[in-house]
Amino acid sequence: MSSLPVLVLNSGSSSIKFSVYEAGNGERARLFEGAVDGIGTDLGKFWIKNAAGTKLVDQTPALPNRSVAFKLVADALHSGEFPAPVAIGHRMVCGGPTVQENQRITSELIDEMERYTAFAPLHTPIACYIMREALRLFPGVPNFVCLDSYFHRTMPEVVRHMPIPDEYSAMGVRRYGAHGISYESIVYQLQPEVPEKLIVAHLGNGSSISAILQGQCLDTSMGLTPTGGIISGTRTGDIDPGVLLFILREIAKTAQSASEAADKLETVVSKKSGLLGVSQLSNDMRDLREAIQAGNAHARLAVDKFTWTIARWIGSFVAELNGLDMLVFTGGIGENDMASRAEICAGLDALGIVLDAERNNVRGPAMISAKNSRVAVRVIPPLEDLIIVNHVVRLMGE
Ligand code: AMP
Repeated sequence: MSSLPVLVLNSGSSSIKFSVYEAGNGERARLFEGAVDGIGTDLGKFWIKNAAGTKLVDQTPALPNRSVAFKLVADALHSGEFPAPVAIGHRMVCGGPTVQENQRITSELIDEMERYTAFAPLHTPIACYIMREALRLFPGVPNFVCLDSYFHRTMPEVVRHMPIPDEYSAMGVRRYGAHGISYESIVYQLQPEVPEKLIVAHLGNGSSISAILQGQCLDTSMGLTPTGGIISGTRTGDIDPGVLLFILREIAKTAQSASEAADKLETVVSKKSGLLGVSQLSNDMRDLREAIQAGNAHARLAVDKFTWTIARWIGSFVAELNGLDMLVFTGGIGENDMASRAEICAGLDALGIVLDAERNNVRGPAMISAKNSRVAVRVIPPLEDLIIVNHVVRLMGE
């Protein structure tokens, strides 16, 4: 019986998360998981724990840059203490218009995806860097890219197309969506009885929501970049384009160049807005809930904006799906913040969505709809790494 350890790499702007799965003989068992967090700081975190949750590595190294951070991961995996990976799967938000399929990574493929960095500016640079480093530090080990945009490739043209002049559409500007691997994992977990008309709300630091018809993506809230759609921790979500022009003109009054102005605008819409911008306090739902308890009106407004936006998206997706069988909450907020779930669903009984207050009072997987709810409402944690492993195993067999 052959062993097939598969390494999954999931990099963010300041962290690299990883896990190792045993994928031989049809098995899917997670052996280890770990992370290097705090890249760019003197006091980072590097940990690895086994399937039982025991920490095997627990360090606080200086992490001046991503090179030092990824070398820690590669050195640990080469140390002999952990099974050496026979394949590596990389999460990637968006590969642009020419890379829509999950596939084996070559340096040419990385160059091609990097051309579209502007479509996921916070994620693509580090993901491409880690792919190049993984090719170099694990010679001979096949690497595969798994795209979030892959799940959304089934969206019809009318949904994907942007109402802009054709010259920009020709440059690949359209809706790609994000969190696709999370959505894929929810559909996977619902098999074999995937509801025909399904809405999944992935609510975390970044939030999005998808309408899924017969297991395939029909529509999703995020657009060209993960900044579109519903309001997130630090991102605006969809916004009147006139607001962008207003802010840009304000920034341009003191900017030295057009590109400096564009960078500053990006910082405003991606890092300073959303829950953080409205609350003037935090992008973290736990902090906001505490502040609401203490009577903070800005925190209340931020969370109200969040739940109101999501309820509107649910309404429009019910119209698009022409009905609804199931609503699923996932992501850090979707799984843990029962107050957000209750507030989102509070005015949706006309759509057949009724929560059971007691059942909703949980963290983690549960059926939370009331007996008289026409629509089943569930909480299901995502299994993104497992989906990446499944793609890697499939692609290795091709
Ligand atoms: P994610 O990006 O999926 O890791 O989700 C991060 C978000 O989940 C943050 O806004 C957290 O505040 C939120 N979150 C995590 N745990 C809880 C909790 N117990 N109660 C409320 N929000 C939580």
